[in-house]
Amino acid sequence: MSARSQPFHSIQPLQPLNSGQLNARVNNITPVKPLRNYKENQYDLKQSTDGGKLSSATASGVNAPIVSQPQQQKKKKEKLSTLCKTPPSIVRTRTGRDYRRGTFLGEGGFARCFQMKDSSGKIYAAKTVAKASIKNEKTKTKLLSEIKIHKSLKHANIVNFVDCFEDDVNVYILLEICPNQSLMELLKTRKRVSEPEVRFFMVQIVGAIKYLHSRRVLHRDLKLGNIFFDPQMNLKIGDFGLASVLPSGNDSRKYTICGTPNYIAPEVLGGKSVGHSFEVDIWAIGIMMYALLIGKPPFQAKDVQVIYERIKKTEYSFPIDKPISYEAKTLIQDLLSLNPLHRPTIDEILQYDWFKGPFPDKTLEVSLNLTPGGLDQISKAQSAINFTNTKASAGIYTPKTKNPVEILRSDLHSEQPKTLLPQSLSPGDTKDKYQEVEPIGSTGRQSKKINFNSTYSTTIKRLNQICFETYQNMRRLEYSKHEMLDTMELPSCENPTLISKWVDYSNKYGFSYQLNTDDIGVLFNDENTILKLHNSDKFLELIYHENEGWTCIENSLLHPPLQSKKQLEIVDFFAKYMNSNLSKVSDNEDRKETVFLRRYTRTSEFIMFEMTNGNFQFNFKDHHKICISKGGLAITHISPSRMIQTHPLIFILKQGNFPSIEVPECLEKIAIIKDAIKKKAFKE
Ligand code: ADP
Repeated sequence: MSARSQPFHSIQPLQPLNSGQLNARVNNITPVKPLRNYKENQYDLKQSTDGGKLSSATASGVNAPIVSQPQQQKKKKEKLSTLCKTPPSIVRTRTGRDYRRGTFLGEGGFARCFQMKDSSGKIYAAKTVAKASIKNEKTKTKLLSEIKIHKSLKHANIVNFVDCFEDDVNVYILLEICPNQSLMELLKTRKRVSEPEVRFFMVQIVGAIKYLHSRRVLHRDLKLGNIFFDPQMNLKIGDFGLASVLPSGNDSRKYTICGTPNYIAPEVLGGKSVGHSFEVDIWAIGIMMYALLIGKPPFQAKDVQVIYERIKKTEYSFPIDKPISYEAKTLIQDLLSLNPLHRPTIDEILQYDWFKGPFPDKTLEVSLNLTPGGLDQISKAQSAINFTNTKASAGIYTPKTKNPVEILRSDLHSEQPKTLLPQSLSPGDTKDKYQEVEPIGSTGRQSKKINFNSTYSTTIKRLNQICFETYQNMRRLEYSKHEMLDTMELPSCENPTLISKWVDYSNKYGFSYQLNTDDIGVLFNDENTILKLHNSDKFLELIYHENEGWTCIENSLLHPPLQSKKQLEIVDFFAKYMNSNLSKVSDNEDRKETVFLRRYTRTSEFIMFEMTNGNFQFNFKDHHKICISKGGLAITHISPSRMIQTHPLIFILKQGNFPSIEVPECLEKIAIIKDAIKKKAFKE
């Protein structure tokens, strides 16, 4: 339970009041709640050793309200934890269990923590709250809420709740002991922490928060000082004093303004009207990651008001003298997005490239004092194994990609209700269909299985992997748009294969398209494709088979397999329709590669095509089309009058538009594209 968690204006009366509280009441403004962990607010000040008491200097400035009150932070403050007297040497519970009190472990703003030993000799931490500090119903409710929430949790990376009981003077919350202190002490000793170590920490933290969020619990006070090391040096999140359970429902939010200044998310500072949700914990992960890698939190300042101003403008930098990897910066920048919706979700975080770097199999005890050697030498293969194992231990289950067919019904449904795909798209149903595909060599029909990779140099990867890589590259270019062009590697810029016509008939058969090579394809509702090659008596079938993955079968039009006849008729039907009714998007090109459409998404603003060669084509409502190719490095514009130009994306980002023909709202369109690809990247 935290002193922070009480709105001051509602406490009548609570002793002792401090200057910050008085000011807040007098001015009738909503304060950020008083803070337990003074140490973290005055990061660089030394923690006192006098049983956890902090100097007046250490305590100053932490109770500052959001509205600037420059004079109010000067006076010495008392913490409610000082009301907590040392418990008797033996604490007897009402049910007759005896605990022997041991050494003092630490102090927050509200509680003091002592070692306690049970009769079998097992040692725990007892978070001890003085009853004298629980003066009203609201405070009591908050303490009970902390206990209730904490008691309901069980996760490898959350401090285990053991029991709670009381005597005449104190309430005791018995917890799993974390004898190696917290990340805050580690950072204080180490000054900075290496990237491999922080990667390991992050996975454990993400695992715990994923668990919390899955139970709709917001922690709301994640900070280095609340993340402890157990005896095996695993991280455990503790202190649920500000935790809250979010009621179910899409739009539910919390409105209490609370947190620790350095870690508070901007939307919390937005005031009570804005509300906040799970993203505040994601923000705090970003702050912790930055603090561990750089040595201090990103918005650190002596004056709390300055911290808030910086947070509201996300004003921070990566100091040149404390270099960290590009991948780490990318993740931090995303976590610290001003708009909560732009932050990665808890599931998305571990997909970032940064986690592909050297990854240890555990945290060594020596880490408490110095950087262990050899971490950067951990091989790629070993790192991947360690990463997987650490995720598993942190309860993060990575689903195997059994079904890479990714036309998501929800994509279509939400954007174009009429084209809701039939039930046959569900994996259970499609399984039988795929068995119709005959294995190579076992057939008398004139068909040939084609190895996709070698014959067509097309890689069928998981779609969201391609989206992720493309999104990452687009982001990276955005950050480097101020760098010199001649220091960058630029892609070759030939015009890509494009979809020049399309018909969405997915409420009956499927989605048909004509490429600018004049090849005509139909993406059938069962997710398989037939592509009729222009000027050829061949046609291709792109089929997904559960055991074999994607297969491309080349067939002769003269002797089509029986089961393809009906589908070929449909292709012809579409071909005729498109030829007589639709005009082309772009002029014809010779076929350089064989490309299929893998997925399409329609929104009110655009239709998005994802192709098997990794390209993305966006046809916007205003008849301008943009294609992203080369994994996000190249961009093509097709004007309404079919003029086509391809350039390195960085070039367009620098210029703000295409050189020969201006694209209306060019950068906005690129941002929409990046966002759409990002959304796909993070879809499970
Ligand atoms: P408060 O609610 O007052 O902020 P905390 O939960 O932060 O209290 O606990 C106060 C201090 O007690 C911590 O800073 C830490 O030093 C110590 N502590 C808390 N939980 C444990 C634990 N499980 N094992 C060891 N020490 C702990």
